[in-house]
Amino acid sequence: MISIKSDREIELMKEAGRIVGLVHKEMKNVVRPGISTWEIDKICEEVIRANGGTPSFKGLYGFPNAVCVSVNEKLVHGIPSKKEILKDGDIVSIDVGACYKGYHGDSAWSYAVGNVDEKVLELMKVTEEALFVGLEQVKPGNRVGDVSHAIQTYVESHGFSTPIEYTGHGIGRSVHEDPSVPNVGNPGKGELLKKGMCIAVEPMVFMGKPHCRTLSDGWGVVSRDHSWAAHYEHSVAITDDGYIILTKED
Ligand code: MG
Ligand code: MG
Repeated sequence: MISIKSDREIELMKEAGRIVGLVHKEMKNVVRPGISTWEIDKICEEVIRANGGTPSFKGLYGFPNAVCVSVNEKLVHGIPSKKEILKDGDIVSIDVGACYKGYHGDSAWSYAVGNVDEKVLELMKVTEEALFVGLEQVKPGNRVGDVSHAIQTYVESHGFSTPIEYTGHGIGRSVHEDPSVPNVGNPGKGELLKKGMCIAVEPMVFMGKPHCRTLSDGWGVVSRDHSWAAHYEHSVAITDDGYIILTKED
């Protein structure tokens, strides 16, 4: 069932989203060669709690950590580890969810570790742009398929791909609500977008083919062809004529 949020609920979601934004602001200073994904997780959790939130993903479906940290060929759901140390040239995607007074914010961002290849920079740029190309379609009267199609077309026009299995979603009192917001789809199809709906739009993009598998830890999702991945996500609220981004620090 799709829920329409009241203005009061959207104010609470802005606060949840502000906390998520603060975490990503901090990550710009934190991500560097030599740090472990475990340390990243700890810092994210500290920032969330210091600002009055709780980590949305801790315990969600049994996830053991505060945030998902996915390195290089890992697309999503990476489990932080003391043994996983970032190296110069890596790419790391950090997916952050925070809950404030019962409402969630969810935003992922990819970070370059030190100096990365030009091709990796292009992957990051195209994926971030795909997020905003998708968001351009977020307005009352459009359908979820308009968002999906815009993302898919943009990503594929750059020679990259996005897997069908992992999608964006509605968000509010739960991190994952209806509707699902795929990164692959047809215009004019799917759920009608309405004022007050809150959704997370999140292109997940591989440099190579769109086929993935889950690691033996039961969480991390990697490309089958070992190509690297990027992931950008904002939670937004639909307004009279478009959307506002909820997951920003200001
Ligand atoms: Mg997320
Ligand atoms: Mg999400």
